[in-house]
Amino acid sequence: MAEPQNTITNNSVSQKDQNEALVIAVTTRAIFNLEKEHEIFLTKGKDEYVRYQQANENNPLEPGTAFAFIQAAQFVNKKLLERDPEDKGLFDVMVLSNNSPESGIRIINSVKHHGLEISKFCFVSEEDSTQYLKTHNVKLFLSADRTDVHNALQRGVSAALIFQQEIRTPSPQLRVVFDGDAVLFSDETERVFREQGLEGALAYEKTMEAVPMGEGPLKAFALHLGKMRKKFGQEDSPIRTYLVTARGGRDMGIRAIKTLREWGLVIDEAFFMDGAPKGPILSKIQPHIFFDDGLHNIQGAQDVGIPSAFVPWDF
Ligand SMILES: [Mg+2]
Repeated sequence: MAEPQNTITNNSVSQKDQNEALVIAVTTRAIFNLEKEHEIFLTKGKDEYVRYQQANENNPLEPGTAFAFIQAAQFVNKKLLERDPEDKGLFDVMVLSNNSPESGIRIINSVKHHGLEISKFCFVSEEDSTQYLKTHNVKLFLSADRTDVHNALQRGVSAALIFQQEIRTPSPQLRVVFDGDAVLFSDETERVFREQGLEGALAYEKTMEAVPMGEGPLKAFALHLGKMRKKFGQEDSPIRTYLVTARGGRDMGIRAIKTLREWGLVIDEAFFMDGAPKGPILSKIQPHIFFDDGLHNIQGAQDVGIPSAFVPWDF
């Protein structure tokens, strides 16, 4: 059943339909820089943390790693509504937080200060707040807490771990980069590679060329994003999607492309890096978010100021 129209928030938010929207849930530490505050929580305890947040509730937080991504999603919403004022398939961003409501005032004030359109704030004290993801139809969950991310993936929700990092402000056009194996696709070929080396992986890919790969943890989100992307043409799109994979194009590209085709997932640009570092190409693309299951790739992205999201495979 659709949620009742939310009339107490702003107009564009009230139009969102949870069943059609692309719902993204972010935790407060993913969207804002709360490193200092988190340190207080860890070293001095919850009470001191709440006291600090209350004392600073009119002091807005600085943007965190996922901030630019959320801002760009807002830009896409604007373009979707310009194209069709009745469109209900918008991004719908909610904040899911383990903050208590008392310490949450600073979060709400920071969202208002930065002009972010956030439809829902859930301040929940439960150990595992990811139980609310399915209820809210969340398609992507970004958190700075590893356990959160594991729990969400286990519930079948696309999720990734965000690390606090220095980021540049990219263009308004939303750019999303996905890794292939163990992110969009399953880790089947990677497992063969680990067990049998490159020769084994190449032979496996050749035998399996006509068989689409299994789905990876970010497939569901990528499909929803792809659906939104299809509403726009090549020239005017506020969304651009990329595949940047360690696969070599000559021997391992075909199966990847065929799998995307089988899924009906159109990716604007695909880079088959043949094991080369991803940092330089990411630096050219300047995405708002880069999803990868390899920590060396995450590190490479962070080194060039690209907001990166780690997708653990071993959940
Ligand atoms: Mg991978």
